[in-house]
Amino acid sequence: SLSEKLESVFKKLRGQGVMTEDNIKEALREVRLALLEADVNFKVVKDFVESVRVKAVGTEVVQSLTPGQQVIKIVHDELVAVMGGNEDNGLNLAAKPPVAIMMVGLQGAGKTTTCGKLGRHLKNLKRRPLLVPADVYRPAAIEQLATVGRQLGLEVFNSSADQKPVDICSAAMRFAELNGFDTVILDTAGRHQIDDFLMNELAEIKAAVLPLEILFVADAMTGQEAVNVAGGFNERLDITGVVLTKLDGDAKGGAALSVKAVTGKPVKFVGLGEKLDALEVFHADRLVSRILGMGDVLTLVEKAQSVFDEKETARLQQKLKKNQFDLEDFLAQLQQIKKMGSLESLMGMIPGMGKMMKQMQGAQPSENEMKRIEAIIRSMTPGERANHGIINGSRRLRIAKGSGTTVQEVNQLLKRFTEAQKVVKQLQKLGPKGLLKGMGGLG
Ligand code: GDP
Ligand code: MG
Repeated sequence: SLSEKLESVFKKLRGQGVMTEDNIKEALREVRLALLEADVNFKVVKDFVESVRVKAVGTEVVQSLTPGQQVIKIVHDELVAVMGGNEDNGLNLAAKPPVAIMMVGLQGAGKTTTCGKLGRHLKNLKRRPLLVPADVYRPAAIEQLATVGRQLGLEVFNSSADQKPVDICSAAMRFAELNGFDTVILDTAGRHQIDDFLMNELAEIKAAVLPLEILFVADAMTGQEAVNVAGGFNERLDITGVVLTKLDGDAKGGAALSVKAVTGKPVKFVGLGEKLDALEVFHADRLVSRILGMGDVLTLVEKAQSVFDEKETARLQQKLKKNQFDLEDFLAQLQQIKKMGSLESLMGMIPGMGKMMKQMQGAQPSENEMKRIEAIIRSMTPGERANHGIINGSRRLRIAKGSGTTVQEVNQLLKRFTEAQKVVKQLQKLGPKGLLKGMGGLG
């Protein structure tokens, strides 16, 4: 696996504090191979590896990670960023209804199936979708969509194979308007490869119905080929997004990364099976875990966690014995958690954590809160951090000013810290094992 390979690359470098040009060179060779193996486009890999190199050189090695793990972490974060981060790439349906969504792509990519899945998705969102069969070339295509509609209890526009696709689509828009359908999903024809006839037909439909979304449906199994085709469709039609189908198969999903890089358009949904409920809104971090090898990334997070646990548990136990868990520890803990990324995913991996989380409901700070908390604690004197009891009204005012926050926010933090102290005392009663389990949740 990638993490094993990077581990061995870095074995001899253990204990080195900062990543250098030389020690990451070999690691990036492994990263490059892993990405190519996952079917990421060659040029995309080249650009990507370069951006990781720039990020990695000079980075301080986090204490709880080995350099190899740290490279994976950087690669992971960079991949997520390249794919548009974890922002919500929802459908744009904000216009006077009916709005049209046009599905385009090669034959067999999954357009008809995805029309049904998307219809179901929109129905769940309390919209009224109309499915429109506009593939008049394949004999069974119209009947296929009709069957899908029946299975889902969705209305399918009545079209016949002797009509022109653009006429079907225009008529369907009028029908939707008259009958109160707010979303029209157009199932268009595909070909085995891009040709002018198909592109002209699709461009004609686009001009006639002015769809808000043109979704390119790509078969993840076809890898690189899907990327070239996506480029072609985007050039002619200016697509608005991509649906990546058949990710339930062996495809490693590298195509998604390339598609985004080549077209600049986001992946909006992924198809995860033939069944009509097998559609998910796209999450970049899930796909990245898949590209890098799910196990690798989870292992990394677990490792970071366990190293943190051992050291911190020992240190904290000492403090606890003396009843000395102070604001400094509180801050150190928040910083550890921040380094390790998503607290939620960490918590999810710790068995039996559910109850503890409930108990501390609302105790998990968001990224912004975290920044505020850090600023506040950094504005305290060492004396105040060690003994929060001395922080009176005028000190609170000074701390608020120094950290660019309000007295109210300083009060809130102190309250929260007192609660964390209580939890620490509770954990102490549970013994070292309970303490270990609770570590992630003190923030
Ligand atoms: P179209 O020619 O683009 O309309 O493609 P279809 O919707 O007819 O799908 C072609 C084949 O791919 C069918 O057998 C579908 O059941 C299958 N299919 C579509 N989406 C998925 C998916 O996400 N996963 C799997 N495993 N099969 C899919
Ligand atoms: Mg079809």
